[in-house]
Amino acid sequence: MALFIDTDLCTNMGACEPECPHTAIYDVGEYWKFSDGTSLSGQVKNLNGEVIDADVINKPLSDESYFIVADKCTNCIGEYDEPQCAAVCATDAPTLITGLEEEDKSRLIKKKEWLTEEQYNLDL
Ligand code: SF4
Repeated sequence: MALFIDTDLCTNMGACEPECPHTAIYDVGEYWKFSDGTSLSGQVKNLNGEVIDADVINKPLSDESYFIVADKCTNCIGEYDEPQCAAVCATDAPTLITGLEEEDKSRLIKKKEWLTEEQYNLDL
């Protein structure tokens, strides 16, 4: 499962943001794109088979705390032994998302491939 940042715990210290291998973490009120820090560019097929524009600028997911874009979060699988954002957070604010459709290991590995391999870019 992806992680989210618990707004009750986050003190906006920002230690997590530079640690994310997929630029899934953004500052308070920051606009974001799927192409930020990934191999995605232009028209891409997402994991559900839908075509999206990875360069579209999306609205911030929080105006109160740092936030994680779940579709860019892989739980650091295949790259680190533990979620890097949680490892550096002094207040344990990055927390596993619960209540959403569970992402198993194979889905997280597929997401990592999607974020890091250019094969999903349709504009090549
Ligand atoms: S668990 Fe890893 S991939 Fe997910 S937001 Fe944290 S650092 Fe980024």
